[in-house]
Amino acid sequence: MGALSKAGAVLAEPERWALFIDIDGTLLSVAPTPDAVTVPAGLVQLLEELADGLGGAMAILTGRRVTDADRLFAPLKLVISGVHGTELRSERGGPVTTLAPAIPGDVIEAMHNIAGIASGILVEEKGCGVAVHYRNAPVARRALETELAAIIAASAYDLVLRKGRKVLEAVPSGYSKGTALAALLSRPPFKGRRPVMVGDDVGDESAFLAAEQLGGMALRVAGEHFDKRGADFAGVASVRAWLKALRGRLARQKAATNPSSELG
Ligand SMILES: [Mg+2]
Repeated sequence: MGALSKAGAVLAEPERWALFIDIDGTLLSVAPTPDAVTVPAGLVQLLEELADGLGGAMAILTGRRVTDADRLFAPLKLVISGVHGTELRSERGGPVTTLAPAIPGDVIEAMHNIAGIASGILVEEKGCGVAVHYRNAPVARRALETELAAIIAASAYDLVLRKGRKVLEAVPSGYSKGTALAALLSRPPFKGRRPVMVGDDVGDESAFLAAEQLGGMALRVAGEHFDKRGADFAGVASVRAWLKALRGRLARQKAATNPSSELG
């Protein structure tokens, strides 16, 4: 892209883009447990103004449940896909559709059983997925991977193992952040815009690929998965600074087209 960075290309022509963005490690700093994240002052308003400024073409793509993201960003009910593409709210404030069946009880039970191999392992039931967090028991990773792979192989249900930052998840095959991005981009207000996906982890790779294949691009956030050299953002703070710049560009554009709408 020459002298203009990829992130800068979005700021240059914000009206041409549809924004897809991850939560943990991208919008919010990673915490010891998923419940322990903090939402900084002003972020909810920033997201609301961006969604408005982009004509509604903004969606959250997360491994969290939609209800969990709604709690973080209350009172907003943004366009969002949760649990790696298995939950979808395609209209702001609209209903959440569950695209895959719930994880069977025997799989959940087996995952709780193997969590006992070390203290500090947290099992999170997410409806269409089950996550095993080992951030507080990092030495257990290899044993967990082996055991979870065996549980998934033994299940009659078509599951895949997703690896993320200090988390292993069993989710239905055929769903990902990439399938969610493609589904949203096929309809207004996303349709016709170039998708840009911002994320920091393995689970975002499917959406990076989908965005690139659909005429857009991927913006990587440095952290535990991408190092700074290969990333577009140094961390959560620089993502937020970019989002604020994007809000500013959109507001100036709106003021230029419709001077009466400019706020003092
Ligand atoms: Mg993330």
